[in-house]
Amino acid sequence: MSILIVDDSLVSRTFISDLLYEVGFTELILCESIEDAYKTIGFNDPETTSTDLDLILLDINLPGKSGIDACQEISDHELFCDIPIIVISGADHLEGLEAAFKAGASDYLTKPPSHTELLVRVRSALRLKTEMNQRKAREEDLLILNDRLAEMNRELERLSTTDSLTGLANRRSFNEFLSREWLREQREQQPFSVIMIDIDHFKSYNDHYGHLEGDVCLQKVAWALQGALCRPGDLLARYGGEEFVAILPHTDLQGAVELTENLHQRIRELELEHEDSTVASKVTVSAGIASVIPNQSISPSQVVAMADKALYAAKQAGRNQSAIATSPSNEAQSLN
Ligand code: GH3
Ligand code: MG
Ligand code: MG
Repeated sequence: MSILIVDDSLVSRTFISDLLYEVGFTELILCESIEDAYKTIGFNDPETTSTDLDLILLDINLPGKSGIDACQEISDHELFCDIPIIVISGADHLEGLEAAFKAGASDYLTKPPSHTELLVRVRSALRLKTEMNQRKAREEDLLILNDRLAEMNRELERLSTTDSLTGLANRRSFNEFLSREWLREQREQQPFSVIMIDIDHFKSYNDHYGHLEGDVCLQKVAWALQGALCRPGDLLARYGGEEFVAILPHTDLQGAVELTENLHQRIRELELEHEDSTVASKVTVSAGIASVIPNQSISPSQVVAMADKALYAAKQAGRNQSAIATSPSNEAQSLN
């Protein structure tokens, strides 16, 4: 426990420090003025600042800066404000005490203090300081813990909305995005398109190249498809297995068809061998496009069902192509 004693009287300084030393407080810093004390503890110099202090015993009446002014400055100092100050006053100067307490002193002693009084006050101030330090440490631990929890929550949130194999949005975030964007487009009466994409003959790809290679293929296809989506408002999700789905708010049928052509092009550019495909010697995809202007008589899940129906039509028409659906009741049309 480190204690700073500031008193211009050598007799008083020695009396207090001897007594404290005798009972085991050996880390004592003795100063005869505030200026001297400030210099010793680096009060005004961040380079030499020592904040190891646990207690300040401060004479109120000092030559130079007064003890009251010092109390205020210490209380206002970012690094020293938590150090308790016991002011020491001559019995004939008690009127300064009120000002000292206002300025931040936490206790006082009159000169010359009795042994018991000095030790009781010092120990009590140090105990409070220790408790405050412990509370602060606990608060800091809590803050760190809070930060970690927030970080873990963010990670959990990311994991719960992301497909672990491809890094794309998963089915859950697809559903949330779909509902949100549908409502917005309904309000704004803007076109809304959904594209369902499915890898052709992927079962035989797995059978031929193995499941692990199948996973790599899924990743490459996912990233290629993602690369084709250029609007920040679009979402590509893994719908399940080897099926992907794109939601394109503010996009009409023509825009969705153009984008789908681009998707096929990206997959062609991958040039992934698929020896067992009956469609081509490379991996290909089929796509179903649904495009509507949202209204009350149609639900977002119906639009997804339309895209699915169109995908089925594209498969039926020979795969490696697209089909479109523009209403829940009409047949999907192949684009080939
Ligand atoms: P189609 O052209 O009609 O779409 O035929 P397909 O073989 O692609 O479709 P099918 O539904 O018969 O098979 C899908 C295959 O996708 C079967 C399944 O094992 C595979 N699959 C689904 N999820 C994964 C995955 O995460 N990793 C791997 N490697 N394969 C998967
Ligand atoms: Mg398939
Ligand atoms: Mg499938």
